[in-house]
Amino acid sequence: MPERSSGEDDLFGPHNLPYGVFTTADEPGRRRLGVRLHDRVLDAGAAARALGSPYETLLAQPGLGPLMAAGRTAWRDVRRALTAWVTVPAHRAELQPLLHPLDALTLHLPYEVADYVDFYSNEHHAANAGAILRPGGPALTPNWKHMPVGYHGRAGTVVVSDTDVVRPTGQRKTPTGPPPVFGPTTKLDIEAEVGFVVGTPSPQGTSVALGAFRDHVFGVCLLNDWSARDLQAWEGQPLGPFLAKSFATSVSAWVTPLEALDAARVAPPARDEQPLPYLDDTDDEDPGGFDLRLTVRVNGEAVSNPPFSSMYWTAAQQLAHLTVNGASLRTGDLYGSGTVSGPERGQRGSLLELTWDGAEPLDLPTGKRTYLEDGDEVTLSAWAPGPDGTKVGLGEVTGRVTPAATGG
Ligand code: CA
Repeated sequence: MPERSSGEDDLFGPHNLPYGVFTTADEPGRRRLGVRLHDRVLDAGAAARALGSPYETLLAQPGLGPLMAAGRTAWRDVRRALTAWVTVPAHRAELQPLLHPLDALTLHLPYEVADYVDFYSNEHHAANAGAILRPGGPALTPNWKHMPVGYHGRAGTVVVSDTDVVRPTGQRKTPTGPPPVFGPTTKLDIEAEVGFVVGTPSPQGTSVALGAFRDHVFGVCLLNDWSARDLQAWEGQPLGPFLAKSFATSVSAWVTPLEALDAARVAPPARDEQPLPYLDDTDDEDPGGFDLRLTVRVNGEAVSNPPFSSMYWTAAQQLAHLTVNGASLRTGDLYGSGTVSGPERGQRGSLLELTWDGAEPLDLPTGKRTYLEDGDEVTLSAWAPGPDGTKVGLGEVTGRVTPAATGG
């Protein structure tokens, strides 16, 4: 295997090994499952074949679905095998030709997104958004500290990193302004989130207990919940987000296995309200939180560093709540954490908060920004503490805004 390289590449050492799906320039029609190692990608199926591994049937696939559906024991065993393959010197000669330079590959959405849910589980974000959108009223709605509030989104418009995002068009109206007008959004925003990817399904009519989180959730990605604030303000009452968010949701091309984040487990912030029993994680062995340090960049300039450890509700609580009514899980279900924000201004995960709905523009090298302009590019990145002082990188998610479609 290649020598460990320095700098950013250390985020993707043998302790990480996220999964993705790639094609090469030579064979653009042949999707393959890959595992990232530093700045290269191991063709996992070809490696399994070369080494006579019993996991060839799971890895020699055009997508991550079969491995995700295979369950927690298989996830652990395959990860152990991959770790051995990339660290045992005896395999070096055989696997060297199966390592492709990352920058020569095209990356694809690694699994078919089944259902998509987005939560709203960060108290700093919810309080900021409440203060901006409902001035004078209570910052949090009465249900907020009793359940992870969320909505069902649109799975079919989840796109992989580097996919352009067309500025959405729709209706907007200010509370006191003239009748609604139609046109491209003037308040295109981002939401820096962490996505959780379900592997093991669950039957309809049953619920997934808090302690079964790791039996069902395969891994983690970064997620940008693009949001049109003006459309959202007009359409959102009384049923919540609809067209203001369904036009695009971007996810990173790499799915980081939960196991790679074992050293990043942290306790969530103290809860002010005693959760109902199905959400009560007080005595759980698994603290539930993750110490992921996000960075938001606009046109290459870092504008925020949201701390995921500040999430009030954990991913396990979100999954328990999502299924408590008997809703089933399917392989490929994706749920977003909700915008990640911290208590400081430089930790806010949306432009809504960073600019206080445009009242405090950001002064970037590419000009002042309230909301996004056509041509702007947003990148979310993150790392977490790994084993033995290492860092675990999450795959970046990038999107560039292109002008509204004709007719807008
Ligand atoms: Ca969101």
